[in-house]
Amino acid sequence: MNIILLGPPGAGKGTQAKVLEESHGLKQLSTGDMLRAAVAAGSDMGLKAKAIMDRGDLVSDEVILAVVAERMDQPDVKKGVVFDGFPRTPAQAEALDSMLAKRGQKLDAVIEMKVEDEELVKRISGRFTCAKCGTGYHDSFARPKVDGVCDVCGGTEFIRRADDNEKTVRDRLKVYNEQTAPLVSYYAKRGNLHSVDGMADIKMVTASIGRILDGIEG
Ligand code: ADP
Ligand code: AMP
Repeated sequence: MNIILLGPPGAGKGTQAKVLEESHGLKQLSTGDMLRAAVAAGSDMGLKAKAIMDRGDLVSDEVILAVVAERMDQPDVKKGVVFDGFPRTPAQAEALDSMLAKRGQKLDAVIEMKVEDEELVKRISGRFTCAKCGTGYHDSFARPKVDGVCDVCGGTEFIRRADDNEKTVRDRLKVYNEQTAPLVSYYAKRGNLHSVDGMADIKMVTASIGRILDGIEG
């Protein structure tokens, strides 16, 4: 099963993608995480991407599609993928269609996560992740059970993203509304768009997504 979690920065895509890895055996494919790994590795592509990401703009379709195509050829994604932060433009959405068709696969569902802008700013401003396993937390909404210790792997180091500040968040929301929001109607026309109330708490959102996927699995 291949699904897309579609929504603005801070909507909860990464949080729910991690849950779906456990509950549905899917692999999270986050282009943002892949770019941050390239930045951390200091590759040429990473260095170029960093300046763009720090501004809150989109990295070129060409670069993103090359990275995704390479990832889609690895064996661990064959059982199904939850796309997180991809596609972000109509050109990426069309390219994903052909990428899946070429591999004899299809898109089973696109789940739009709806969250109001001011809530997104709050969520992103308080976001941090475990440096070891990538589990996401929030200063107010999703704290680790024991302060300073990751619930999942016991790690004690946490990171905050360079682009998670209020100014860049507002720029990223503008970019989302201009370049990515048109994908909602793109997928609605295809009949595989579902929406969830992303304003609800994390467990409620998980339950809503679970019901949608149960319906698809028949
Ligand atoms: P995205 O991947 O869409 O950018 P994240 O999954 O990283 O968003 O979530 C952004 C922040 O909001 C994180 O700190 C996360 O812990 C928190 N969060 C995620 N979902 C919810 C929710 N339903 N309610 C409150 N906080 C949430
Ligand atoms: P994210 O982790 O999804 O919030 O993405 C962080 C940043 O990485 C974005 O603000 C963009 O600069 C870049 N990025 C991630 N995914 C894409 C994509 N599919 N297309 C273009 N840029 C992307």
